[in-house]
Amino acid sequence: MSLATGHPAHDPADRGGSFTVVDPATGETFGEAPDRRPEELDAIVDRAHTAWHGWRADQAARRRALREAADAVDRAAAALAPLLTREQGKPLTESHAEVARTAARLRYFAELRIGTQPVADDRPVHSRLRWRSLGPVAAIVPWNFPLQLASAKFAPALAAGNTVVLKPSPFTPLATRMLGSVLAGALPEGVLTIVTGREPLGARLASHPGIRHVTFTGSTATGRAVAAGAAASLARVTLELGGNDAAVLLDDVDVEKVADRLFWAAFRNCGQVCMAVKRVYAPRRLHARVVEALAHRARTTAVGSGLDPLSRIGPVNNAPQLARVERRTARALADGARAAAGGHRLDRPGYFFAPTILTDVPADSPVVTEEQFGPVLPVLPYDRLDEAVRAANDTGFGLGGSVWGTDLDRAAAVADRLECGTAWINHHAELSLAQPFAGAKDSGVGVAGGPWGLYGNLRPFVVHRPQEA
Ligand code: NAD
Repeated sequence: MSLATGHPAHDPADRGGSFTVVDPATGETFGEAPDRRPEELDAIVDRAHTAWHGWRADQAARRRALREAADAVDRAAAALAPLLTREQGKPLTESHAEVARTAARLRYFAELRIGTQPVADDRPVHSRLRWRSLGPVAAIVPWNFPLQLASAKFAPALAAGNTVVLKPSPFTPLATRMLGSVLAGALPEGVLTIVTGREPLGARLASHPGIRHVTFTGSTATGRAVAAGAAASLARVTLELGGNDAAVLLDDVDVEKVADRLFWAAFRNCGQVCMAVKRVYAPRRLHARVVEALAHRARTTAVGSGLDPLSRIGPVNNAPQLARVERRTARALADGARAAAGGHRLDRPGYFFAPTILTDVPADSPVVTEEQFGPVLPVLPYDRLDEAVRAANDTGFGLGGSVWGTDLDRAAAVADRLECGTAWINHHAELSLAQPFAGAKDSGVGVAGGPWGLYGNLRPFVVHRPQEA
């Protein structure tokens, strides 16, 4: 298998226009990326198809290449992490964690083996189940975890023997392009291509006739458009979509003990996490204490540029998202909510919003019923546990949820009642590479993560062979 030595990211058509990239900590432009025209995808997908024939043929070579790719990512961490912080906004320590997770995921999928197994058959035949790759896969990802979500798509797709055309968000194309250059040293040409550009590039990629699987992470609205686009070619779709996760606190919860964990489950990456805690339900008796414990942390946590080692919370990633967070918060305040902390933009350059804890929020306020995707957390009181569980489930989303209390058996029984893909007890949003990740309801279609993520990139193939000639 020949290893690529060519252009960074195997990007054959680095021509035409470009678009600018803004540093959310300053609001100023600091870079640019190629703005690829949708028509250019024809040649790119063709190359991915050509590369597929060699790549799918040799599982052992693929595993070696993916291990090599993981080592290359680790070696490039000192360059990748600051660039990620610069364009995305998150604190540098979180960017380093994201790079490490990207390498870990490559390693994890490099070690998974694609098995074959006998199929039960009462006729005189040996039926054996094997697995075949699909072909070129389109991966489309958002701006909140550009590298981690990209690797969540390309690592299993490549391990399965597919080739990948990956499109990052136009808000965060730069670290992904650098990652492409890093991986170009380990992967054969055409096996992973990074394409950057503004819409309708993503729409064209999702509906391209040469694509056999579209794996998308982003908002539910865009996910619907992606699924509709992929229907034309009947490509398989995997959709990881929005969430509005509830944290239900039980009446035996130790507020001070869990407050830090609960706070960071909502405010990590400036709240821009699909499975962040986006609503808290607290027993009325404890409600004021919960609000104050969280508000204290919101007021005292250092907010600033992710490159400043003292910052724990960075800016919102982009201007439209900041406007959305601001609108939802203003609407809640106009409807009678009170900001126990924050409630406003910070008066400084960049897209900073004060970490905000809202109380007295009407249950039908958009900050409760929709995904705020920013550093704002409503805390709602409840009188009866059934009421809290009903409210937690009363949403079109079904990504995650959590239950917090001292009696773990009781908490587990409540967690069982949550209508979502993953439920945690006294934690939130922690995922192992080996576990399946799948949203319920409008939060997703298909399964990512673990062996399920690998087999989501394969199709079954059965050979029936007579027992005798
Ligand atoms: P988005 O849906 O606006 O964009 C996601 C990606 O799709 C971007 O690359 C974008 O350029 C592209 N895109 C836009 N229009 C398209 C179209 N018509 N066809 C194809 N691609 C198109 O989402 P966002 O604002 O970048 O990210 C935030 C959202 O992502 C939130 O809803 C969040 O919950 C969700 N998210 C989900 C998960 C998960 O695993 N479930 C993880 C992270 C983020």
